Amino acid sequence: MVEEAIVTKVLAFLCNDGSEQSNLDNSDIVVGGGLGLGAAGNLQYLRNLATTIGGGVGCSRPLVQKGWMPADRQIGQSGHTIRPKLYIAAGISGAVQHRVGVEGADLIVAINLDQNAPIFDFAHIGVVACALEFLPALTEAFARRMPPHNSIKGMDRGRLDDQE
Ligand SMILES: Cc1cc2nc3c(=O)[nH]c(=O)nc-3n(C[C@H](O)[C@H](O)[C@H](O)COP(=O)(O)OP(=O)(O)OC[C@H]3O[C@@H](n4cnc5c(N)ncnc54)[C@H](O)[C@@H]3O)c2cc1C
Repeated sequence: MVEEAIVTKVLAFLCNDGSEQSNLDNSDIVVGGGLGLGAAGNLQYLRNLATTIGGGVGCSRPLVQKGWMPADRQIGQSGHTIRPKLYIAAGISGAVQHRVGVEGADLIVAINLDQNAPIFDFAHIGVVACALEFLPALTEAFARRMPPHNSIKGMDRGRLDDQE
């Protein structure tokens, strides 16, 4: 059999935030979190969204400094420079050192409680909201439209279907 004869099919997207080496440089979708997420446990909201939409997980520098995320997840001047099709930034202020790492993204969606946050100066879509409320709602909205194999473990598919 020759290689061209092998039929391939994408069965699922795997979120790679737990891997030794991040794949942020090559991801079409990146979900980034900042100090606004408030606690390491809340990073689960990022992972759930990334898993649902097939993206990688990144962060601002303070999350690495706090030990919430590994250093290879840092985006910005002293981290990765990314150029995804979609970058979703949650609880990130948009300091210049972060901005230089993300402004090559085709579409930047920023979620921040503070309508005057600098990130809204360069985001294409700004959402003034609490990321801890908005991220799960966004994940559920995507999950309704994605194939079942991308749904989050523990997410109540029946409950989602009921709302449709
Ligand atoms: C030499 C040098 C290199 C640096 N390199 C980098 C780098 O590579 N990458 C990098 O990211 N930074 C880098 N920094 C740090 C940078 O200057 C900023 O301090 C950092 O980016 C801020 O991170 P943050 O946005 O997560 O935190 P903050 O600036 O504290 O912003 C948190 C944001 O979350 C919002 N928020 C709070 N609660 C919520 C909520 N519930 N929902 C939604 N939003 C909320 C707040 O309004 C605020 O805008 C560097 C700094 C120096 C000096």
